[in-house]
Amino acid sequence: MLVSVRFCLRGVMRNQPLMLGLLLLLAGLSPARPQDPGTLDEKQMPPLAHSDSPSTPAKELFARKTKPVPLAARSIGFYSHGCLAGAVALPIDGSTWQVMRLSRNRNWGHPQLIDFLERLAGQAKKIGWNGLLVGDLSQPRGGPMLSGHTSHQVGLDADIWLTPMPDRTLSREEREFMSAVNMVREDRRDIDPEVWTHERTELIRTAARDLDVERIFVNAAIKKALCREAGLDRDWLGKVRPWSGHDYHFHVRIFCPPDSPQCKPQPPPEPGDGCGHELDYWFSNAVLHPAPSLEPAKPGPPLTLAELPAACRAVLMAP
Ligand SMILES: [Zn+2]
Repeated sequence: MLVSVRFCLRGVMRNQPLMLGLLLLLAGLSPARPQDPGTLDEKQMPPLAHSDSPSTPAKELFARKTKPVPLAARSIGFYSHGCLAGAVALPIDGSTWQVMRLSRNRNWGHPQLIDFLERLAGQAKKIGWNGLLVGDLSQPRGGPMLSGHTSHQVGLDADIWLTPMPDRTLSREEREFMSAVNMVREDRRDIDPEVWTHERTELIRTAARDLDVERIFVNAAIKKALCREAGLDRDWLGKVRPWSGHDYHFHVRIFCPPDSPQCKPQPPPEPGDGCGHELDYWFSNAVLHPAPSLEPAKPGPPLTLAELPAACRAVLMAP
């Protein structure tokens, strides 16, 4: 889907920032915000009055499932249009990672995503990154979420903070309220040299080189820095694509796992490293300084259960 979006970006959409919101929806990426605080006052969600109504948004149904389906692991559907059976949780503490915003209960993924995160966390130390602070993966049964993302639905997407893990176990309160650091300079044309370091390039390079990783999304200013700092080893850069938001974290997407025949893959990125003029659009005035009179595109009506792959009904209804 991103292929057609990128085509649009190069052509007709170039001067139409109004369309950007729509494009984000099409690509299954709304700006995710790791800086948004969580809560220590977790309340059980009230039951839905009409949970079986065909117009009930699927996000209301999936948000109320606090446990995974104990079936074989399967990612079902597309990254922004599906669900997840047999999810496993990334443990909230590892020797080289900690999970943030525990109140969201979004540290669930396909086992292949959990394996990748544990692998990357282990490699991080070797490149001088103390450990990972991990943001949202998916809900226990995947599916659309009430806030923050349109993707992350099939247990194959993960947000990783561009702030390293500190040398201590964070308190419950810190995990809800600590903010990640914005890596983008105030004029949005490059990274902020006060906070950006080369270890961040090495961390993203290490993630992109992983054979399970299909795509990584970062802010265009961060992509610009990666292009500059990559040196002669540039093959991995093609997987790293600019997207709005993503100034505090990077988003890793892994390939459809072999055990998931109903998982719908994303078309491969265009060839090349995606540097140079390919980034121009993101630094155009129309994007950096959209006319205040332009209202962001309104999202369409929320997905219903009937609009998701049929197998998602069984995933949702399972005890
Ligand atoms: Zn994300």
